[in-house]
Amino acid sequence: MVNIMNVSKKYNDKTVLDDISVDIQKGTITSFIGPNGAGKSTLISLVSRLIAEDDGQIKVGGENIKEVKSEELAKKLSILKQSNAINMKLTVRELVSFGRFPYSKGRLKSDDWAKVEEAIDYMELRDMQHKYLDELSGGQRQRAHIAMVIAQDTEYILLDEPLNNLDMRHSVQIMKTLRKLVDELGKTILLVIHDINFASCYSDNIIALKDGRIVKQGRACDVIDECVLKEIYDMEFNVQNINDQRICIYFD
Ligand code: ADP
Repeated sequence: MVNIMNVSKKYNDKTVLDDISVDIQKGTITSFIGPNGAGKSTLISLVSRLIAEDDGQIKVGGENIKEVKSEELAKKLSILKQSNAINMKLTVRELVSFGRFPYSKGRLKSDDWAKVEEAIDYMELRDMQHKYLDELSGGQRQRAHIAMVIAQDTEYILLDEPLNNLDMRHSVQIMKTLRKLVDELGKTILLVIHDINFASCYSDNIIALKDGRIVKQGRACDVIDECVLKEIYDMEFNVQNINDQRICIYFD
């Protein structure tokens, strides 16, 4: 479980998160939606301890993240930030093997390599595993970074806009993979996502943020609602039920 309790964050004098409280159940996908600048990335960076809150407290698996040693936290929680952060002269396979660092400290054992192989296959990267990252398309690089997170094999996985740069087939592939990680392996996934239809179809819960506050949180079907979406994004939505999914149409 992730408990975010009365968390606030300011940058300089500007409040970017204002008294946020959320409980996220284990074994679920929770998507954070909302306009640019709403505070979504800041919130998941706080949960991963990449940055510190000014007020409030965050617990992951019942432990206050401030009290967990970094090496323990890295075995419990992984985060993939926006943009392909690592762009050194590395092959896909080398990058994915970095995911095992918290366990192996650079000396991978056979168990570690087995996780690397599994992650490479999960993300369909086998035929490009020896390519350098700078030889790949943006979408292929993104998949390699996600494979690294999968190889880290943590109970909690945080992803900041994982569908960036991906075409539709690979977006669906990623979301299905995330569902599998939750449904088959019991992982808990938090993600920031812009495509509300992907959020609607693949999340258990959605948290809608605007101006550093939670506008609505709940089951995906309760948040994907014309009034809620209008309040968040300041535009008109038409929400239809198609194949038991709530699908938003937002073109004028
Ligand atoms: P979102 O992910 O919803 O687009 P962010 O969490 O990235 O929003 O940003 C929330 C607000 O915090 C924005 O107004 C952004 O400009 C500001 N912000 C984010 N990071 C920093 C930073 N390092 N320094 C100053 N302001 C920041």
